Amino acid sequence: MVYDPSIRLGNIIKVVYSRLLMKTIVMKFGGTSVKDGGYNRIVDILKLYKEQKAIIVVSAIKGVTDELIEVAKVAERGDNKAVQEFLDRNAERHRNEAKLSMKDVDTDVRTKLLQVDDELGHILYSLCYTRDLTPRILDYIMSFGERYSLELAAATLNRRGIKAVGLTGGESGIITDAVFGDANPLMNATKQAVHERLIPMLEKGITPVVGGFAGITKDGIITTFGRGGSDYTATILGAAVDADKIIIWSDVDGMMTADPKLIKSRTIPELTYDEAMELAAFGAKAFHPKSLIPAMEHKIPIYVRNTFRPEGAGTLISESGKKSYSVDIVKAVAVLRGMSIVTIKGPLVGGNIATKILGRLANEGINIKMISQSMSESNLSFVIPQRSLDSCKSIIEFEYLGKEIMDMDSIKDVCIVAIIGSGMRGTPGVAARLFNSLGARKINIVMIAQGSSELNISIAIQEKDLQKSVEAIHEEFMGRT
Ligand code: ASP
Ligand code: MG
Repeated sequence: MVYDPSIRLGNIIKVVYSRLLMKTIVMKFGGTSVKDGGYNRIVDILKLYKEQKAIIVVSAIKGVTDELIEVAKVAERGDNKAVQEFLDRNAERHRNEAKLSMKDVDTDVRTKLLQVDDELGHILYSLCYTRDLTPRILDYIMSFGERYSLELAAATLNRRGIKAVGLTGGESGIITDAVFGDANPLMNATKQAVHERLIPMLEKGITPVVGGFAGITKDGIITTFGRGGSDYTATILGAAVDADKIIIWSDVDGMMTADPKLIKSRTIPELTYDEAMELAAFGAKAFHPKSLIPAMEHKIPIYVRNTFRPEGAGTLISESGKKSYSVDIVKAVAVLRGMSIVTIKGPLVGGNIATKILGRLANEGINIKMISQSMSESNLSFVIPQRSLDSCKSIIEFEYLGKEIMDMDSIKDVCIVAIIGSGMRGTPGVAARLFNSLGARKINIVMIAQGSSELNISIAIQEKDLQKSVEAIHEEFMGRT
């Protein structure tokens, strides 16, 4: 800070004091939470946190982002008529949501919605002519779901007596690189800009309502963080203002011990950032995987809670992540379906050859999920999404078979099942318990891998054994539910 003698000491103390006393909390509301008049739920929940200053982040209403992506493709085909139909439907949907959240929708709200409709219409129509849907334009189009949402949220809050200002991610100060569709925040610039814009509002008792998912480049071009990216907005803002906590309000009770669609599972009370990151990598839909990074760096606790059951404790993700139920060696069992295993064989297939082939596949965009290699280096197995199987096999056949490798096999319809928990680190016998629990039910394990972080042990099994396996594992480590 530059010393300015004109600032009186008293003033400095006052400012520092108010900053210290001001606990800020960032709350993000997902697409299902804001649907069907859900903007009112934000107000109800805010009332439970009266003593804190809040920054609100909202997602697009559930389904809107999907439709925007769809209509972008329609526009690229040049189908004006279908674009017009979409625009009508979309305008009507957001008007209906406005009515559900605010009994009478005043002209101010109407004008704002019309402006958003108009801008979206222009871009879609121009796309009908240019017929060139670049990632940059797609990001611009996708960002509109949150544009509507932030207007509706801010208006609902104001209507119910909470002074609020709606801002896009860019307006709130989130500055990113230019990787469209998967942007990364430039944290130093973002921190400064967010401070300049949001702190004065908070000090005046105004609640900033920020549209999630999108930011802008330093040149002012709209970017998005990829699907589910509103969570990232919340943690970026949390880190920028050094929030006390971040709450992700969704439609689930928190992170679950297993996919509730597969078996009866329960909420995990606490997780470390690492554990949560592992779970997110397995597609635990609770949140966007990168979103943990800013919170982790600033040690800001994240709560994942259910808007429809706000009294529930939810899941706390923090540095310690401890204090879970007593048996917390394994906290969750996660699943990736729709996989295939490819095994390549040959003398010394392990070393350089493996690097070469796996690198080649990765360059083709084939996502290798799990690798296992025998000590003899005579064979190497890896798991890839089944949809990539054909292209993987043909690359290997054309380029390596009969040369570096002698033989290739594949197994279809497998899934990866992983147990996750930092309590496994240095605890002997975990793998044995995993294998025994499956062996006792005559379930065959096709492949095994464990990283040296010991945060996760992954196995591959046949898809048909999935349900039984998850049940067995859950019972062994997390008990019956
Ligand atoms: N609306 C965006 C999506 O559907 C971002 C989000 O909801 O987090 O992916
Ligand atoms: Mg989400």
